[in-house]
Amino acid sequence: MSKGKLFVISGASGVGKSTVLSRVMAARKDLSFSVSATTRPPRPGEQEGVSYYFVTKPQFEQMIAEGAFLEYDDHAKNYYGTPRLQLEEKLQHGHVILDIEPNGAAAVRKARPDATLIFIMPPSAEVLEQRLRSRGDTSQEQIALRLERAKWEMDQRSWYDHVVVNDRVEACADHILQIIAHAADEN
Ligand code: 5GP
Repeated sequence: MSKGKLFVISGASGVGKSTVLSRVMAARKDLSFSVSATTRPPRPGEQEGVSYYFVTKPQFEQMIAEGAFLEYDDHAKNYYGTPRLQLEEKLQHGHVILDIEPNGAAAVRKARPDATLIFIMPPSAEVLEQRLRSRGDTSQEQIALRLERAKWEMDQRSWYDHVVVNDRVEACADHILQIIAHAADEN
């Protein structure tokens, strides 16, 4: 039996998930982040093994063949996946949070029905588009792909356990911390 509880956070690209997540992680030391593998190139400031494990497409496909992923998906022309062993190891030591999109969340729910699924919504569709465009590191083609995908992702929120709006980062992080405290402290 693993010691920790599993939490999944999803939300469209540009919703501010990583900022909210850093606050949540800083407030709960018994919570660790599951580092995914991806074939997308690193963004400025992202570190290997901290943000992601950055791998090539053949490496990723080799890992799929070896059954190394609890779940994986292709998103905006790149692969993303949750390494199974790393997750199990982290769960032996505490609670774990996954930042994954809805297909991955659905796979996690099947594999681990006890996981708590949280969906972060932007305050409005306009704010999301504005945030995505102002990032500066994303091409026009990627922006269009991500906006289209965002619409589909937001439709998926109905089957998550909790929906939280990221209007203000602090309030959103506090809301998520309450959800985590509730699930983590029940036996
Ligand atoms: P980004 O490229 O902005 O870091 O992430 C793009 C999307 O991929 C986000 O919605 C993020 O939640 C999702 N993602 C990141 N890691 C994983 C993973 O391991 N599995 C799945 N299914 N999605 C992931």
